[in-house]
Order: sequence, then C-alpha cells, then structure tokens
Amino acid sequence: MKFETKVIHAGIKPDPSTGAIMTPIFQTSSYVQKKPGDHLGFQYARSQNPTRTILQENLAALENGKFGISFSSGMAAIDAVLRLLNPGDEVIATNDLYGGTYRLMTQVFENYGIKLHFIGLSDDIELKARINDKTRLLWIETPTNPMLNIIDIKKMVQCVNDQILVCVDNTFASPYLQNPLDLGADIVMHSATKYLGGHSDVIHGCLMLNDEDLAMKLYFIQNAVGAVPGPQDCFLILRGIKTLHVRMDRACENAAYIAEKLLNYEKINKVYFPGLASHDGHKLAAEQMKLFGAMISFDLKEDTMENAEKILSSTNLFSLAESLGGVESLLGHPATMTHGSIPRDERYKIGLTDSLIRLSVGIENKEDLWEDLRQAIES
Ligand SMILES: *Cc1c(COP(=O)(O)O)cnc(C)c1O
Repeated sequence: MKFETKVIHAGIKPDPSTGAIMTPIFQTSSYVQKKPGDHLGFQYARSQNPTRTILQENLAALENGKFGISFSSGMAAIDAVLRLLNPGDEVIATNDLYGGTYRLMTQVFENYGIKLHFIGLSDDIELKARINDKTRLLWIETPTNPMLNIIDIKKMVQCVNDQILVCVDNTFASPYLQNPLDLGADIVMHSATKYLGGHSDVIHGCLMLNDEDLAMKLYFIQNAVGAVPGPQDCFLILRGIKTLHVRMDRACENAAYIAEKLLNYEKINKVYFPGLASHDGHKLAAEQMKLFGAMISFDLKEDTMENAEKILSSTNLFSLAESLGGVESLLGHPATMTHGSIPRDERYKIGLTDSLIRLSVGIENKEDLWEDLRQAIES
C-alpha cells in the first residue's frame, strides 16, 4: 500500500457489529466477561480500547513499523522511552531540542540517575567521542526547532552499536515526509498534536517501531504507567490522519512560496528553510525527506525585540500562538516564547536572535498568507 492509501485504509475496517465506516468511539472503561477470563480481548480500557487499537495499527503502518503505541501526549510518549533506562545509563541527545523534552530529561530523569549529554549532531565527530559503554539511548530531532537544522539519521545510526537505541522525534516532518525506521532508527516518536491530528484540537503522542521485545516493554509501560489517550482523542487523530498527505502537500507548497518571498525581501536578514538552496542542510533534506516541510524561521536586519513584536502583533491571518502543524498558519517568537529560558549569548551562538520569528505555515491561500506577512513586516 502507498502512503496515500495507508492513511485512509491501514488497520481500518468497518465496525463488525454495525458496519459503521468511521471507527466508533468506544467510550467505555470496562468490558463484560462471560466467565472469568472468557472475553473478547478487552478487559479494562487503560489496557485496551478498540478505538485506540485501530489507531495504533494505522500509526504503525504510516512509519512502516510493526507496532504503534499511543499516549495521552507527545511528552508521555517520550517519558515511556526514557523509562526503558536504568540508573547509571547515559543518553546522548541533540542540543537543538524541543524544550519540553529537554525539561523532562534534565528535571525529571536526571533525578533518577540518568546521565544526559547534549551535543551537536551536524556530523558524527562529537557523537563518536561521547559514546561509552554506559550509553543506552541516542535522541534525535530533525528538522530541529526553531533553526531547522537537518541531522543525517542514517549516518548517526551507523555510528552507534547494538546496545544503543536510536529514537527520532519525527514531529516536524510527519510520517509523510520522513520515515526514520527505514533509515535504521529503532523507535520513531511523534507529537500527534501537530501534523498527525492537524486541526489544533487534540493533544496526543505515539511511538512506532519494529522490534517485538522492545514493543512489549513499551506496551507494558503504557499500561503500567497509564498515560493513555481517551477514545475520543484517538478518533480525532484517526480522522486527522486521513488528510495528512493532502494537508502536507499544500502546507509545504505554501511554505516554499513564502520562504522564497522572504528571501528576496529587503528588511529580512536570514531565512531558515531546508527547501532553500542556500540552507546548510538542503542537500541532505532533499535525500532524507520527501518535501521540505512547512516550518520557516527568519530574522530582521534591524534585529530588535521591538521590531519582531511589531510583526507578531500586526498579522491578521497568522495567529500568534504556541504549537504547529495545524491547518491554520501560526507565528511565534522563540526568544520570548519557547526558548525564553536560554541565555541570550547562548541563543545567539545558534542564530536564535532577538528578532527571530518562527512560522508554521498552514493550508490557506499562499498569496493571502504572504500579503498578511508583508503588511505586518511593513507596519
Ligand atoms: C509538541 C512537541 C512535543 C511534545 O508533544 P505534546 O503533544 O505537546 O506533549 C515533542 N516534540 C516536538 C518536536 C514537539 O513539537
């Protein structure tokens, strides 16, 4: 099955008892048994729910994995992976990381004796130097947030031994653009809150993988810890996924158009978008991803907070909000919003300037979107 068919059909069958074409929302906490142990495979809804089971099968197929595991949020999915570790184990993660992942690793798991190393993964030199016999997990995010750097997944996988799990946070690309399991990663993680859901109306996370032993450990954690999604949330993700490819095609086309316009606009300093030939990761992104994504960052020649704020408060179609990946276009200010806790000189070292603005380009008309941005830049 090709991707465009999988989003609609993989793991999904009409409901056997009614023929309902849409997966029903099984809003139940428990299931009746005929006699002890004689049941239809469902006992208690933390452990199993039919809406969730169907979603998990569909999710697995999207990443070319055998197993899909759903959680109540992207953070709960990351938490489940980190719970595979024991005190004394070491984690290597990219230093250009989603803030919530950094917080979970350093403020929760460090207290449990997990040692963390945050390094640049633009090549494998630092990684090779950092691996030791206690290293158990390599955590990769690509494209990164908000600088949109591209990490070579295949190269990083080749660098680590069998004892080290490689997990890729694939949220920014979505399974339509990039499939890390095919590149040798052990686990793919998504905040399904973003592109998979796609309509800014649900929080959800998931893991996809091929190894059965590892999957059983993660299903155990899913049930034992209990950070499971409700059936209505599973339904919303299933519904969102059906249009993932169509939404992504349009969002990526719009983003490429806007990046090109920004590049040629006099008040703009730098434009960070992997689709631009001038982007450091352009060639790698062209190999590793189907399209270049719909996230763009840019900053201003007159680099001040005030100039950025003027733009942020002058758009009519782009809404100022956290998150990404919905049908509507959003813009955000990393220096004060997502990356506010990073000291200013640290930020400037990676190009995260005071005037840097991040766009999540939606699926509206691209000319309307550019006109909205242009008038805000001129305001
Ligand atoms: C949003 C996000 C997360 C966290 O997911 P939640 O669904 O908000 O818990 C993790 N990684 C990335 C890249 C994200 O954008």
